Amino acid sequence: MPFVYDFDHTHRRPPMELKDLLGGKGANLAEMTSVLRLPVPYGFTITTDACRAHMAGGWPQGLTGEVTRARARLEKKMGKRLGDAVDPLLVSVRSGAKFSMPGMMDTVLNLGLNDESVEGLAKQTDDERFAYDSYRRFVSMYGRIVLGLPGEAFDTLLDEAKARAGATSDAEVPVGELRSLVEAYKQIVRHHTGTAFPQGPDEQLRGAIEAVFGSWNGPRAIAYREHEGIAHDLGTAVNVQAMVFGNRDDRSGTGVGFTRDPATGAKGEYGDFLVNAQGEDVVAGIRNTEPLSALKQRFPKIHTELVGIFARLERHYRDMCDTEFTIEQDKLWMLQTRVGKRTGRAALRMAVEMTTDPGIRLSRAEAVQRVTAEHLEQVLHPQFAESGHTVLTTGLGASPGAAVGRVYFTADDAEAAAKRGERAILVRSETSPEDVHGMLASEGILTARGGLVSHAAVVARGWGKPAVVGAEKVRISGKSFKVGTTVVAEGDWISIDGTAGEVVLGSVPLAEAKPSAESETLLGWADTIRKGHLQVRANADNGPDAANGRRLGAEGIGLCRTEHMFIAEDRLPIVRRMILAEDPSAEDAALEELRVAQRADFIEILQAMDGLPVTVRLLDPPLHEFLPDTGELAIKEATVGLTDEEQALFEAAKQWHEFNPMLGTRGVRLGVIKPGLYAMQVRALMEAAVHRVAAGGTPVIEIMIPLTVSREELALARRWVEEAVTAALAPVSPADGRPVTAARRKSDRDGRLQVLIGTMIETPRAALRAGEIAEVAEFFSFGTNDLTQMTFGFSRDDVEGRMMSTYLEKGLLKHNPFEIVDADGVGELVRIGVARGRATRPSLKIGVCGEHGGDPESISVFFDAGCDYVSCSPFRVPIARLSAAQCVLAAAAGIPEAKKRPRAGVAKKRAPAAKKRAAVAKKRAPAAKKRAAVAKKRAPAAKKRAPAAKKRAPAAKKRAAVAKKRPPAAKKRPGAARKATRRTR
Ligand code: PEP
Ligand code: MG
Repeated sequence: MPFVYDFDHTHRRPPMELKDLLGGKGANLAEMTSVLRLPVPYGFTITTDACRAHMAGGWPQGLTGEVTRARARLEKKMGKRLGDAVDPLLVSVRSGAKFSMPGMMDTVLNLGLNDESVEGLAKQTDDERFAYDSYRRFVSMYGRIVLGLPGEAFDTLLDEAKARAGATSDAEVPVGELRSLVEAYKQIVRHHTGTAFPQGPDEQLRGAIEAVFGSWNGPRAIAYREHEGIAHDLGTAVNVQAMVFGNRDDRSGTGVGFTRDPATGAKGEYGDFLVNAQGEDVVAGIRNTEPLSALKQRFPKIHTELVGIFARLERHYRDMCDTEFTIEQDKLWMLQTRVGKRTGRAALRMAVEMTTDPGIRLSRAEAVQRVTAEHLEQVLHPQFAESGHTVLTTGLGASPGAAVGRVYFTADDAEAAAKRGERAILVRSETSPEDVHGMLASEGILTARGGLVSHAAVVARGWGKPAVVGAEKVRISGKSFKVGTTVVAEGDWISIDGTAGEVVLGSVPLAEAKPSAESETLLGWADTIRKGHLQVRANADNGPDAANGRRLGAEGIGLCRTEHMFIAEDRLPIVRRMILAEDPSAEDAALEELRVAQRADFIEILQAMDGLPVTVRLLDPPLHEFLPDTGELAIKEATVGLTDEEQALFEAAKQWHEFNPMLGTRGVRLGVIKPGLYAMQVRALMEAAVHRVAAGGTPVIEIMIPLTVSREELALARRWVEEAVTAALAPVSPADGRPVTAARRKSDRDGRLQVLIGTMIETPRAALRAGEIAEVAEFFSFGTNDLTQMTFGFSRDDVEGRMMSTYLEKGLLKHNPFEIVDADGVGELVRIGVARGRATRPSLKIGVCGEHGGDPESISVFFDAGCDYVSCSPFRVPIARLSAAQCVLAAAAGIPEAKKRPRAGVAKKRAPAAKKRAAVAKKRAPAAKKRAAVAKKRAPAAKKRAPAAKKRAPAAKKRAAVAKKRPPAAKKRPGAARKATRRTR
């Protein structure tokens, strides 16, 4: 296979499909040149194969010859030669990987200039100043990027030249100064490298190509790939392209244009341009740009041509495109195009609107595939809770959502603040790739300069971080900024609204985001697609959370953790009384109190989820979590002494102490020791159900027994549950008056009261023995938090704090398995569990209720395995609905998950499973239930839980300390914190 392809090479497949080989930029340049025949300066692409070969063993054999021949072809087409003393050709050398990595790799411009060709350029253009300015730029760029010299050395000389000439901008530096600068720059090169600045085009070209290859493994690029989940072994292509000059004169210019508004999705061209400037000037945000509408006045013909090209690009790519263009002396050149990045709001709007756009006609399935989980997450971002705040200043709303934090002026300071646990807003004149770590650590970004396509805007949008850019009234000086007379110092609080572009002094309360009308439409389509394949439920432990889950589209509750009902402030003393009870009657009395309390909770939940299944898990955590810290009590005992009650608690806590509580008396084991507890819970639940039936409701109940490991264990627990169900239902049986027995539950259906009994699969043994366990279970729910803990032997309470970041950094793990399910190990256990369970009981209902149920990559593993539903926290439900539909579509198309997004390294291994998916999708029976909207305001359950949590026993405290200590790497991936799996949940 050749290493080099001209842009006009005729490929066997459309070049835009060859991103693996040509990189994104190269593929699209070839598409524009050879297919669309747009005005693109000629050039050639050195493939990613060449980069990979270079990484493996240095400059590849044969590459020199191929580059030389491609260069000769280019020179022939252009009628000019690199380094020519009369009419020189200049080229740009740019990186271009398969996945866009904006600003993360290197570029060399104006290559081909030397001491002779600069004179030729001056004569040809009749512009000596332009020629020497280009040469000056080339020497410093080459010096920095290819020769690795410090940039400041060049910058200082330029600043001095400006000062000497009294120039306020680079454009005002006179030609005499530029000539001297070129000489001084060459001296810098000689001083640092011991050799002269390379004059030969071959040497220049090879140096630039190698530098671009090398920049693939530069620290910026590695950090970006790690954040974005892009595999490190892909390599970059290199594009060598004839230069055109937007900085020739006032009949020239350069710009960045989108075929639709990338922030809002509104139809119509959108972008920025600068007269008499080079492309980097627009992207760097160094000069404030003009909108494309101004192009219409200044260059009406070019504007019409550009709009026509935009329309063609949209029809061709069937999507919004992002372009870079240059005008050189009234001639338009297209330098780049790609499917444009967009905000979540824009993605949703475009996807929906393009289904009715006659030039595009997306199908609904295509529209659903166009929107990513990250897009949807963005529209779920918080906004300012109230309007009417005093706006300090405004800029461009570059990335939606609101953020509140303390002001920091450098990326390092913002990162340090975040590490201290502070919320930071990074305020900069403009950002550059060097600021990326601080941007990542910040809640939001504010810049004084730059447009919607500046570095700050593009990066923030990509990560869904709120950003306001180009707030021109912000004057930064050292560690403060001024707007008029108002001074905002480092550490002061500000709030920014990245949707409206507003900056507000102080901390504005934030409100949860509201999905747009388009998100409802799109999620509706997603629901239709996934219907009968993969349902989505919510994990909810109280009425408001359940109502919220339903409002967000949950089709039931997949996990109601009943221990959350016990740790509420008013319940804790009763639980403790139950544990401390010295005789059965005291225990019964405490259980009776708990029963009444739980019944009320269950009524609320069943009401919110009326008609939909509610999976209630019987008590799971170790009892010592309800008892106080033995360490604290020991100190108190030794110092001021304990009250009688404290003494009793102390004794009980010591008695229940375990070295490995997560592997101790929890789950069904607890039920075995205190069977009265489970009976009480089932009774409370069934009474609530009866109450709901009496009120005209249709409760659908699934009683779930946690942490079982064998058929015998589950059979025992099942017996208590059945007895408790029978006992609870007998007195209030339906019209015929007969007692409701277990057998009757199955046959006597008026559809008003349904009960299933099942278990969680949370241990490797349970997954392996799923065949026998299914004999006594009507459903399984995979508790992938514990299953991950037990499969890896990683304590979910400790491992993320202590070693996860090191493991990730060293590549020992591809990702945190508590965040994205381990497809190969834990996923295999899920697959085994599903297959063996269904072999025993084909009708077995199977779900997943670990935190992975809301993670798109994990959802595809569960879908592959044949699960019926996933269950996740209410706010993740929309994401899960979208992801489930995308799994169904990918299966139908036979597309391996690996192709869906950059996390290719992770997904690659899973490809074989995708083959099975189509078959699974076909086989599964429709299980969709109708939903009715319950729009209740969420009364934060957290409030209820917080005081109780304080009182919680040692493990909880330990966990809190660990959580505090957790290193930033664990927080790196947006959303990682949200998915914490710890038992404090
Ligand atoms: C699980 O283990 O995945 C689960 C859902 O249970 P918990 O997180 O409550 O242990
Ligand atoms: Mg569990």
